Amino acid sequence: MKHFKKPFTQQEAIPESAIADAVEVMRTGRLHRYNALEGEQTPTELLELEFAEYLGVPYCLAVTSGGYALQIAMRAAGVESGDKILCNAFTLAPVPGAIHNTGAVPILVEADDDYCIDLDDLEAKAKASGAKFFMLSHMRGHIADMDRIMDICDEYELFLIEDCAHTMGAKWNGKNSGTFGDIACFSNQTYKHINSGEGGFLTSEDPEIIAKAIMYSGSYMLFERHLAAPPKEVFEQIRFETPNFSGRMDNLRAAILRPQLKDIKRQCDRWNERYCILEKGFRLSDAIHIPERSEKEQFVASSIQFSVLNFNREQIAQFQQKCSERGVMLKWFGGAEPTGYTSRYDSWKYIDDMPKLSKTEKILETLMDMRIPLTFDLDDCQLIAEIVVEEADAIA
Ligand SMILES: *Cc1c(COP(=O)(O)O)cnc(C)c1O
Repeated sequence: MKHFKKPFTQQEAIPESAIADAVEVMRTGRLHRYNALEGEQTPTELLELEFAEYLGVPYCLAVTSGGYALQIAMRAAGVESGDKILCNAFTLAPVPGAIHNTGAVPILVEADDDYCIDLDDLEAKAKASGAKFFMLSHMRGHIADMDRIMDICDEYELFLIEDCAHTMGAKWNGKNSGTFGDIACFSNQTYKHINSGEGGFLTSEDPEIIAKAIMYSGSYMLFERHLAAPPKEVFEQIRFETPNFSGRMDNLRAAILRPQLKDIKRQCDRWNERYCILEKGFRLSDAIHIPERSEKEQFVASSIQFSVLNFNREQIAQFQQKCSERGVMLKWFGGAEPTGYTSRYDSWKYIDDMPKLSKTEKILETLMDMRIPLTFDLDDCQLIAEIVVEEADAIA
């Protein structure tokens, strides 16, 4: 019987050029983003400029994490304590956490059979709740029908924040994920598409929004040092009215990220190459269901999800166990206890009056999830698919 040997949590090494740049920053000792010599542009300032250019937006702010970006995005949007915020029930814990941190109340929206947000439920809850904000997670890189989402946002006058933790490099109908909403947030955490351990970006086309975000991030009166930012006039009032919630990116991380950003297109292609092999392989089992994706969705698949619709809980636990014995680590969103990074909406007990979301529960019940680290080569993906199919078929 074949076994798979590589770890599922091992990402690629940081590129040598990035290591060299990081060492250079350490030699200068100028790690703080505003610590520069006369006339010097720091790696953090340059990274912001480069990411804004890459995404095709005028403004970008680099911060300490994706979750932090979400939090100050809401603050910059004017969210106040008690405000309602529509958001996916199927998302990662930092999202409801960021909402809770602003004192706002999440209105959780059901997941759909294609693992995206359920747009009928979104519309119904936008109408019923009167919420003015919508935090949309492109969870695990699945992009919902953005045309309909924008129609719903228009109709209910929703301020849209896109959580692009899994869609850096992805597009909907040729338009970059992160350029649909009023604000977009990205994560540079190790398991996302570029890796500085921790880190995040907030982007916007609105000068006042980004000015507020810059002040929140802890820019003191050094906001003029931002290159992907509006002119200083925009900060005239904002600088006195916006508290400092210290959460800056530093030059060391920025130095690590800049070469990775230059290479992101190639990396995204490599993820998708691996995904295609896995998807094609998995489809050979009748026990495995993978929803079709829209032709408009140009995704980046740094992970793969599938459903084992006809398995009961015991069978899924057994399937997971059998795969694990052969070295293939599958996560299961339906497990009784959330483990590792897996999180389920019903484990966020701090949310008051949590509704029961039957549709989401039904989907999570049979939903499996697997990382695709780029340390796996194409043969590895072939082998993983073989193992998963054999074990699924054995149980079915
Ligand atoms: C990782 C992630 C975040 C937040 O990222 P951090 O940088 O770890 O704070 C937000 N949303 C989703 C869906 C994520 O997967």
